[in-house]
Amino acid sequence: MFFQKEIETMSRPEMEALQLERLKRMVDYCYENIPFYHDRLEKAGVTGDKIKTLSDIQYIPFTTKDDIRDNYPFRMLAQPMKKIVRIHASSGTTGKPTVGAYTKQDLDNWSDQVARVAVAAGATEDDIFQISFGYGLFTGALGLHYGLEKIGATVIPASSGNTAKQLMMFRDFGVTGLVATPSYALYLSEMVRESGYPREDYKLRLGLLGSEGCTEEMREQIEKNLGIFVTDNYGMTELTGPGVSGECEYRCGLHFAEDAFLPEIIDTATGERKAPGESGELVVTTLLREGMPVLRYRTKDITRLNYEPCRCGRTHVRMDKVTGRTDDMMIIKGVNVFPSQIESVLVSTKGIGPHYQLVVRRQNFMDNLEVKVELVSTELLESYGELKALQRGLHDRLKSVLGLETKVTLVEPKSLERFQGKAKRILDLRNESSETK
Ligand code: ZN
Repeated sequence: MFFQKEIETMSRPEMEALQLERLKRMVDYCYENIPFYHDRLEKAGVTGDKIKTLSDIQYIPFTTKDDIRDNYPFRMLAQPMKKIVRIHASSGTTGKPTVGAYTKQDLDNWSDQVARVAVAAGATEDDIFQISFGYGLFTGALGLHYGLEKIGATVIPASSGNTAKQLMMFRDFGVTGLVATPSYALYLSEMVRESGYPREDYKLRLGLLGSEGCTEEMREQIEKNLGIFVTDNYGMTELTGPGVSGECEYRCGLHFAEDAFLPEIIDTATGERKAPGESGELVVTTLLREGMPVLRYRTKDITRLNYEPCRCGRTHVRMDKVTGRTDDMMIIKGVNVFPSQIESVLVSTKGIGPHYQLVVRRQNFMDNLEVKVELVSTELLESYGELKALQRGLHDRLKSVLGLETKVTLVEPKSLERFQGKAKRILDLRNESSETK
């Protein structure tokens, strides 16, 4: 099923022609309406008519989160405030929040994009969706809210918190769809299992989860507990919000809304464009946004683009699930390593807990990575054979996932440091003189 079949199944040449036309227009629009881009584009000598092919996009300078932050709150707007009908902002864990500003047309396009993601996942007008994202400045809740209304589904703006009430609404309102973060969905799913009500009292069948990463194991757990089918979607305030890309029923990558967002993959270090299928940092140009367009926005998310046609009939390029953030990336012996890759191995290994630390050292001019991980119980410490087998198993799986030798150290339960808020899992000692030989 499709929401906008004509757009979603457009042939590649048609799509590229549409993107080129919109890109040219967008470059001129930014030049004329945003002083920041006026200066940037003038310096780079780029105007709309200089863009002859899509690959000419490489002559446009990148936009970074710092650029948006430096122009806080409204200097990235391309329209006067009287044309702006909505403001959102990201949480801003470091410094000022990132603002998003939307015209009426932006809101209309946005809900179309979310509607496509919802329909691709299997949502219909018969569904009753409970939105258990926190409402507020965050784009997730209102983004899904209007997208789901657009397909004619029933929307319950539950917001997050008050778990007992969430479960009561599931049962009493006959809720069939859940919108939440994966971690909240996991929590709710455990509560449902423990609620004591028979499974038939819950009609849930579909979960549209997003706004944070979700491991395969977590997804399986949520699906098992709730008896639902879960899909992932992707977006961020800098690019509108959710609806930038989303999984179809085949869950083999997230279809990008290519008529509205032009994706590229670059090498984080050099900024060079990568070939289709290669992994690197996702860079996105908005092609339709009026209120706050961005040109070549560096998302810091690491992924890959797959242009092969999909079984669902959609032609829009698929991006892999984000495998990491450039912020977290370590380069060890020339290999890009993300903590999330290591985490996925650890969470699926029996006998060890979720706490770990990564220590990078340089010895004899060689980098090496130590993975310290806690055992779940002290019992194992008494069996040398089992301990060795666990260590060896972890080492081998890490090697196949990372393509790198690691040193695995199993430590006693509760011996690693605990963190309030964002965990600091990487200890990079390579630039400390005592460690360098
Ligand atoms: Zn598909």
